[in-house]
Amino acid sequence: MNKELWTIGRLLQWTEQYFRNKGIESSRLDGEVLLSHILGQERIYLYVNYDKPLTKEELDAFRPLVMKRAEGLSVAAIIGKKEFMGLMFNVSEDVLIPRPDTETLVEDILSLLDKDTEYRLLDVCTGPGTILYSLLHYLPKSTGMGLDISKKALQVAATNRQQLELEERAKLCVSDMFGALRELGGYEESFDVVTSNPPYIPTAEIATLSEEVKREPMIALDGGETGLDFYDILVKEAPLYIKSGGWLAVEIGCGQENKVADMAAATGYYSDPVYNRDIAGIIRELRWRRL
Ligand code: GLN
Repeated sequence: MNKELWTIGRLLQWTEQYFRNKGIESSRLDGEVLLSHILGQERIYLYVNYDKPLTKEELDAFRPLVMKRAEGLSVAAIIGKKEFMGLMFNVSEDVLIPRPDTETLVEDILSLLDKDTEYRLLDVCTGPGTILYSLLHYLPKSTGMGLDISKKALQVAATNRQQLELEERAKLCVSDMFGALRELGGYEESFDVVTSNPPYIPTAEIATLSEEVKREPMIALDGGETGLDFYDILVKEAPLYIKSGGWLAVEIGCGQENKVADMAAATGYYSDPVYNRDIAGIIRELRWRRL
C-alpha cells in the first residue's frame, strides 16, 4: 500500500482487486466484512463513510486479516463469527463453520414442531451448537443436549450458549457419538428429535476441498472411506434414545441419500424418509419418524 491517503473506498477497491488476484470469488464482500469488523461497524457504515481516511492503527489492524484471507482462511474463521438462522455464532479454527445448507434441516424440523410444546432435543456432533441452538432459539419451551467428541468445539459451543441465553435449556457433553449417553444411562427413549450434521466427506475427497474448507477441523469433515461411517452409527443407535413417534434428521453430502436411506431401512426402526433439498437444489437432509 503506498503513501496516498487510504480512504475506506480506496482500501476496499484495493482489497477487492488483491483478493480477486488470489482467486477469491467473493472478493468485494470479504473485504467489506473484514474492514467493518476492524472498524466495529456494520457494512453500511463503509458506504456512508466511503471517503473517510483510515488511521494508521486501523490500517495496521486490517493488514493481517487480509493476509490470513489471502492464505485461505475463511472470513468467518478470521473474524470469529458467522450468522446462521438469523443468530450470530462464535466460531474458530476448532469448529465447522455453520453453513446455509444446514438451514435446510433446521427449517424442516421447525416446520414440524410447535413452539409452545416442550420438546427434548439431542444434537450429535454439535460443533459450535449450530443446529441445537437455532432449534432451541425458535422453540422457547424446549430443552436439549449437544454432544461432540471435540472438547475445543464444546468450548466454542459454551460461549454461544451463553451469548444466545440458552444456559438454562442446553446441556453440552463431550461424547464420541452416543458414547456418553450409553455410559450415563437414563436417556433411553427420552428425546423427541435427534439431529446430526456428522462428518461426511469421503477421506479421498478431502484433498479436493477448497482452501477455506481445508482449514476447518478434519475431524469435522472426514467421514471415513465412503463418507458414511457416522450414518451407520446414527441410524443404528439413535432409535435407542428417540421416543416412539419422534424424529431423526441428518444432514448428508451430495448424492449420499440412497445409501443412507438403505442403512436406515435395514434397521427396521424407521418410517420411509423425507428428503429435503438445500438452496442449490441438492438433497441435503433426510428425516425419519421412529416407529
Ligand atoms: N458441508 C460441508 C462441506 O462440504 C461438510 C460438512 C460435513 O462434513 N458435515 O463443506
